[in-house]
Amino acid sequence: MAIVEVAIPVPLNKTFDYLCDVEVAVGTRVRVPFIRKIVVGIVLGNKDKSDFDKLKSVEEVLDDTPILDQPILDFLFWSAKYYHHPIGEVISAALPKNLRLGKEAKIKKVTGLSIDTEKPDYKITDEQSHAIDEILKAQNSYHGFLLHGVTGSGKTEVYLNITQAALDQDKQVLVLVPEIGLTPQMVSRFESRLETRVVAIHSQLNETQKLDAYLMAKNGEAGVVLGTRSAIFAPMPNLGLIIIDEEHDGSFKQQSNFRYSARDLCFIRAKQANIPLVLGTATPSLEMLKNVMDKKITRLTLTQRAGGATMPKVSLIDMRQHFDGLLSALLLEKMQQYLSKGKQVMLFINRRGYAPVYYCKECGWKAECGRCDSGMIYHRHINRLKCHHCGDEKIPEHTCPDCKQPSLEVLGYGTERLEETLSSHFSDTPIIRIDRDTTRRKKAFGEHLKQINSGEPCIIVGTQMLAKGHDFSNLAMVGILDTDAGLLSLDFRATEHLAQLLIQVSGRAGRAKEQGEVVIQTRYPDHPIFSYVLSSRYTQFASQLLKQRSSALLPPFSHQALLCANAKNKQVAEDFLREAAGLLKSIQIDVVEIWGPVANIIEKKSDYYYFNLYLQSNDRKALHQMLSTFNEHIDTLKLRNKVRWYLDIDPIE
Ligand code: ADP
Ligand code: ZN
Ligand code: ZN
Repeated sequence: MAIVEVAIPVPLNKTFDYLCDVEVAVGTRVRVPFIRKIVVGIVLGNKDKSDFDKLKSVEEVLDDTPILDQPILDFLFWSAKYYHHPIGEVISAALPKNLRLGKEAKIKKVTGLSIDTEKPDYKITDEQSHAIDEILKAQNSYHGFLLHGVTGSGKTEVYLNITQAALDQDKQVLVLVPEIGLTPQMVSRFESRLETRVVAIHSQLNETQKLDAYLMAKNGEAGVVLGTRSAIFAPMPNLGLIIIDEEHDGSFKQQSNFRYSARDLCFIRAKQANIPLVLGTATPSLEMLKNVMDKKITRLTLTQRAGGATMPKVSLIDMRQHFDGLLSALLLEKMQQYLSKGKQVMLFINRRGYAPVYYCKECGWKAECGRCDSGMIYHRHINRLKCHHCGDEKIPEHTCPDCKQPSLEVLGYGTERLEETLSSHFSDTPIIRIDRDTTRRKKAFGEHLKQINSGEPCIIVGTQMLAKGHDFSNLAMVGILDTDAGLLSLDFRATEHLAQLLIQVSGRAGRAKEQGEVVIQTRYPDHPIFSYVLSSRYTQFASQLLKQRSSALLPPFSHQALLCANAKNKQVAEDFLREAAGLLKSIQIDVVEIWGPVANIIEKKSDYYYFNLYLQSNDRKALHQMLSTFNEHIDTLKLRNKVRWYLDIDPIE
């Protein structure tokens, strides 16, 4: 009898041995018994003897040929080690659900082949052509490029050209995009230009479609795989190029279970495959700008908007001078001007729901979630108060629970209330609201986009779902309503993210021939961020931030990890982290700083108390060595089974 070593999706840092009649190739799925259950695992090796006796037997070998080849396994091993996450769970996160469940690895419907491709009706610009040439020079080896192009500069045109060049060499191309909102437009641009099969991998596909896409990537039928963060794990035997669009976007970081950064993993995958990597954005992250400074990647710039469009004019409205509520008279006037010229206007407000506060104006009582340290948001169309942290909802009271007066009111604005207010000002103009509430239905987002793309004058109201990548040709004006919270935040990344957001949102305006306009309402018009945003000097602003980070020894000039714990009993969560801090300190690697435990910004969520322990070092190796040793000795922590805990490597929140 042979013995096979199997990775199983359980939160344990080990693999499991099973007996098997036959040798099974590495990367094959097997069904095995595991603590009174039958689970699907992946074979990682064959051996003659095991350290354990009384081995159980493999129940079924599920694949004739391995589902994971060696290069992708190497990539998954690297990821598991770097993020200190169990290999069984990492592999499981990389597989589509149907394969995890043990379903047959067979394509149901082959899709995505485009035949009627069209050539662009414009000539590429000199800047585009330079970028394309530089990238193609490195076509057959690892090289990282930051494609830093202002919004509307035609980065996609560069992607299409370099993708075509890779396809001409019979290679496959992986394209990562931030969120699903972007994908339909990107997919259709790739499909209409490239004579290949373009498959999309994202969360709105059903499980059959996801499996089909995965298998078409794996068998090489898909020339282009275009997907959100998890597509970084798509098996692609002839991978020749990786493109990541909107590199700076936070959604490339997975924030639950296996916490990885698809953006950072792109570097590893490109190195392992020895191929070029292109990171595109108008607002590079400080991490990438530092990589450029350190000559780890090459910066290519597109400084002009393509096709004769100019950058929008940006101005501020000082809200200390305007007491007319959320919308200043000046903003309304400008909106009216554009709408009467048949143009579209977009208003950006980063809060969904009707109003963020429901309170008693008599005694000051405020509706709060009973399970979280958080206020309840009023949603008018369903007449519910909702907690945006745990999802709890309730019907709002009519009289104040404290003083019994009928004096309850809402305070502040969300998208829903903004929509209502706008309809009283602009009764003849359609208002399209785009947020998580109006796009919950699968096709809803696409329908909204279609209406906008028809070009009819309208007002678009949206949250940051709208900030990214969209190319609305008749959108002439963008109003940004409430950014002040970002100026006051304590998070050291807040100003970086706010500058990126302001520029990305502004970038939606005036992408066709006529110049667009951006109006930002703020109570802090003297904040330095605005002088940079107004004169579109993102790079200078970012260099200022980099200097501050450097002197404060914050990322990207140091490396961080978080050990997070939560429990129903507050003391237990805190004590576990104290125990953990003791263990970490006993490892005696003094170039790693440890501080905490400290309560999370929102300490209580869904009845659980959240605490963090911060680790930081400018020596990444030392930090990781400490974490590996910590993981080996985790069994010595008495409270480990009384809390839920996890590690977050290179945290961004
Ligand atoms: P970005 O991704 O850099 O914001 P896009 O790739 O969406 O910009 O391009 C913006 C618009 O410019 C698109 O409508 C695109 O078709 C057009 N475009 C791209 N390259 C050119 C070019 N060389 N000449 C004219 N128009 C172009
Ligand atoms: Zn009251
Ligand atoms: Zn809650």
